Amino acid sequence: MQTAPTETDFLVIGAGVAGLRAAVELAPAGRVVVLAKREVTDSATQYAQGGIAAALGDEDEIGLHLQDTLNAGDGLCIQEAVKVLVEEGPERIEELIQWGTEFDRDGTRLAFGREGAHSRNRILHAHGDSTGREILRALYAKAKMLSSISVFEFEFSTGLLTDDGRVCGVRLITEKGEEGAIAASAVLLATGGVGQLYRNTTNPPVATGDGVAMAFRAGAEARDMEFIQFHPTALYLKNAPRFLLSEALRGEGAYLRNGELLRFMPKYHEMAELAPRDVVARAIVHELEVSRMKDPVVYLDLTHLDEAHVRSRFPRIHSTCLRFNIDIATDLIPIRPAAHYSMGGVGTDLDARTSVAGLYAAGEVACTGVHGANRLASNSLLEGLVFGARAGKKMRDELRKGPARKQAAPRAAYSNGPVESAHEEIVREIQDLMWRDVGIVRTAQGMKRAIEQLTQLAPKVSHPHTRRAWEAQNLQSVGLLVARAALARQESRGAHYRTDFPAHDDAKFLKHSLISAESVRFA
Ligand SMILES: Cc1cc2nc3c(=O)[nH]c(=O)nc-3n(C[C@H](O)[C@H](O)[C@H](O)COP(=O)(O)OP(=O)(O)OC[C@H]3O[C@@H](n4cnc5c(N)ncnc54)[C@H](O)[C@@H]3O)c2cc1C
Repeated sequence: MQTAPTETDFLVIGAGVAGLRAAVELAPAGRVVVLAKREVTDSATQYAQGGIAAALGDEDEIGLHLQDTLNAGDGLCIQEAVKVLVEEGPERIEELIQWGTEFDRDGTRLAFGREGAHSRNRILHAHGDSTGREILRALYAKAKMLSSISVFEFEFSTGLLTDDGRVCGVRLITEKGEEGAIAASAVLLATGGVGQLYRNTTNPPVATGDGVAMAFRAGAEARDMEFIQFHPTALYLKNAPRFLLSEALRGEGAYLRNGELLRFMPKYHEMAELAPRDVVARAIVHELEVSRMKDPVVYLDLTHLDEAHVRSRFPRIHSTCLRFNIDIATDLIPIRPAAHYSMGGVGTDLDARTSVAGLYAAGEVACTGVHGANRLASNSLLEGLVFGARAGKKMRDELRKGPARKQAAPRAAYSNGPVESAHEEIVREIQDLMWRDVGIVRTAQGMKRAIEQLTQLAPKVSHPHTRRAWEAQNLQSVGLLVARAALARQESRGAHYRTDFPAHDDAKFLKHSLISAESVRFA
């Protein structure tokens, strides 16, 4: 197997939609190294089901997509960023189609689905419910055709190298388990989300917040970390993963029913099952709390819809649930909410630049401001494409600033071997306390307890020597960022809900949280 070089022009950490799209943009300008910490297929992009939003339909307008995104963001979207997203989105998608992405069609015309809080049918999907997998396939195939791009799997980056305040490369645990370093003129973090902070999550195992933690250690600003989206409908069965049951199911007409099999969403919101995700997630939490069931669940019900249509529209969800003896067309599906998406992240400008020179971020690791306090469904694959491409364009300029500093040769050997049980336990402890105290419904008391417990864990994760130990350290530090920002925001907004401050406080908090080692400020 080919080993990663010690020097390149551009370094992209992450091989999901954002990283691969950036790499394609960078390819004509120089050598591009893309790193993934596991297989390329182990990413949120590969997991994405429902689709990708863009105002491409005859009945749709870019202005409507803009407005729906702003509405979902609950006052905190950065309008210029949303404008870039919705205006450049259609072109990025046309490009994807040219590169071979096969979106589903009605005859020859693109088929547009509907999802929660969208005012038009504008969700493109592929193979029914395998949109992310199809986009990743096409992007990876495109990247493979470009000789200046090299993709390396199982290369785990642990930290950023800086020279005179400018990021000039990364440290890593190589595929062989050795310590390594790669120097580059610019580094893009495209490392995905933080879902593994929570006991119940739809996210893949790679979503341990490594990018946010690395950027924060290098002095970059973390923005809006308190806003974690909890997806209302993840499969809830003992010994089954929290498999996502896409919002598109509700878009096709699925109902939510409580333990008594009564439909409950109409009493919580006028859009019923298609209300914003945070509203649906909290309604479910409330129904679970008042349920008399021993291990309460609510159900997703598609039994009133055409059976054949359900099976053909959602082949992947259908076959996955069948593995657990549930036929989604004829059975009620037990569900509970799960952590799904991080609206916050490393703060960037419209060109994906962070507050540290030479360091860029795109995709879920970044906070461009397009999602505000709550993400509109199917806007994140689009964000990865649009801002991945913008990052690539801007990073080309860095090459003119001179060659990257050469880095020292590999030093220590790391362990690639079996996971250490001590770190596994720490990760579980973090996931449990975050779920309990910094989850869907928050209180000051709970968040203070979480901060205290996370702080106490710091010495136990301070000298990482394995990949899992690094992940434990990253989760501990990102957990602290989420909890500190959430405690400081003394209001409820978007996905951040506190029982002690249940209303908006626009006077004090219609602002972004910016976290440094010392404080959380709002600006
Ligand atoms: C189940 C599920 C369904 C979803 N459905 C949709 C949907 O229908 N529509 C939509 O718009 N969005 C959806 N999302 C969200 C969307 O998929 C993600 O936000 C998006 O794919 C993130 O892309 P990314 O490129 O930022 O990161 P990812 O695709 O997660 O890629 C991250 C990459 O970074 C690498 N990496 C991480 N840490 C390191 C490290 N330390 N060293 C080296 N490499 C590292 C990983 O190996 C991986 O290659 C869904 C998410 C999930 C989990």
